[in-house]
Amino acid sequence: MIPYGKHNVKLSEALRVAWQIRFHSLTQGSKINEFERLVAEYVGANYAVAVSSATAGLHIAMLALELPQNSKVITSPISFVASSNSILYAGHHPLFVDIDAQTLNLDLDLVEKQVHLQDEVRAIIPVHFAGLPCDMSKISQIAKASGVRVIEDAAHALGATYENGQKVGSCSFSDMTVFSFHPVKSITTGEGGMVTTNDYELYKKLMRLRSHGINKLDDEFRNPILSTTAGVANPWYYEMIELGFNFRLTEIQAVLGISQMKRLDSFIARRAKLVKKYQDLMKNSSKVSSAQKSSNTGSANHIFPIRINFSSSSLSRNKLMALLKEGGISSQVHYIPIPAQPFYQQLGYNISEIPNAFSYYEEALTIPLFPSLKGRDQRKIIRLLEDLV
Ligand SMILES: *Cc1c(COP(=O)(O)O)cnc(C)c1O
Repeated sequence: MIPYGKHNVKLSEALRVAWQIRFHSLTQGSKINEFERLVAEYVGANYAVAVSSATAGLHIAMLALELPQNSKVITSPISFVASSNSILYAGHHPLFVDIDAQTLNLDLDLVEKQVHLQDEVRAIIPVHFAGLPCDMSKISQIAKASGVRVIEDAAHALGATYENGQKVGSCSFSDMTVFSFHPVKSITTGEGGMVTTNDYELYKKLMRLRSHGINKLDDEFRNPILSTTAGVANPWYYEMIELGFNFRLTEIQAVLGISQMKRLDSFIARRAKLVKKYQDLMKNSSKVSSAQKSSNTGSANHIFPIRINFSSSSLSRNKLMALLKEGGISSQVHYIPIPAQPFYQQLGYNISEIPNAFSYYEEALTIPLFPSLKGRDQRKIIRLLEDLV
């Protein structure tokens, strides 16, 4: 069975993890710092904070902005539910703006309109869908003009490059960027995530929120008198100064992350090559085509969604997925528009406001893409699709 996405871990990497478990620290040691430094240097940001998942990262990034309660935060309806859930965790309201039918990223004209229309819009969480970077220079202009903050959901986009040549995560256009290390993403630590930023105060706040809200770095004690005895520091003393969480990554995971970072560029290059091959194979097809169209060549190519006009075909998506499965090929749909989920429906979201998201959803199918996918598998996948559709 060919999965739609798959992690890539060598035996030598697994042995490093085993070595760490047998002989070194399991949590709160030096490997976390090393992993954070590697990611920060790779993306070109000043700071990186490792967390237990991208969901945890989005959660504390939202909290770190300290927006007034009940702020509106714009995000994409074509994303994983974690993007908008993070807004709700922090006590705010997601505002779903429709996608652009070509790039499948947020439609920035609509974003600009909503920012001007509604006073309470105080942040934007753009999602780099399938690893294709949003036009961050434009998002940053819109945001700066209205004092709106920006958190990039880059769960798909570690290794992607903006049009100006900088890496996604450099935070030149945003306050913070959040990455995921779930097994289907660019690199993996099992579960895991990372938040990058250039702002020292945000960095400190993220460090505190990740670990119970306890003082970090150069935070001063609120009760310095309790922190010493006769002028000597009390070694047991710490202060919790806000309500935080345990969202830490383990040393075991960090060891895998460090090793995976060294392979990131080769993963991204391989994904680009596979996408090019898919495009060549589909060049003359009238039935299947790549769903995402852009002149930007910096995508991390996290997934490969195609579009099929099921409504004008006698073949349903359900049937097609079953037939592909019989042929040994897994497929998926990314994503059901978030506001169509029962929980969001209960909150009263109106799904007629996002027609592009729905017409994409009706036609979407994700076919396999991961670094160890073979060229011959790709030929088999496209041939079978052409036969079936
Ligand atoms: C995977 C994903 C997340 C959540 O990542 P986890 O590390 O699994 O918490 C958030 N946003 C998007 C767009 C994702 O694809």
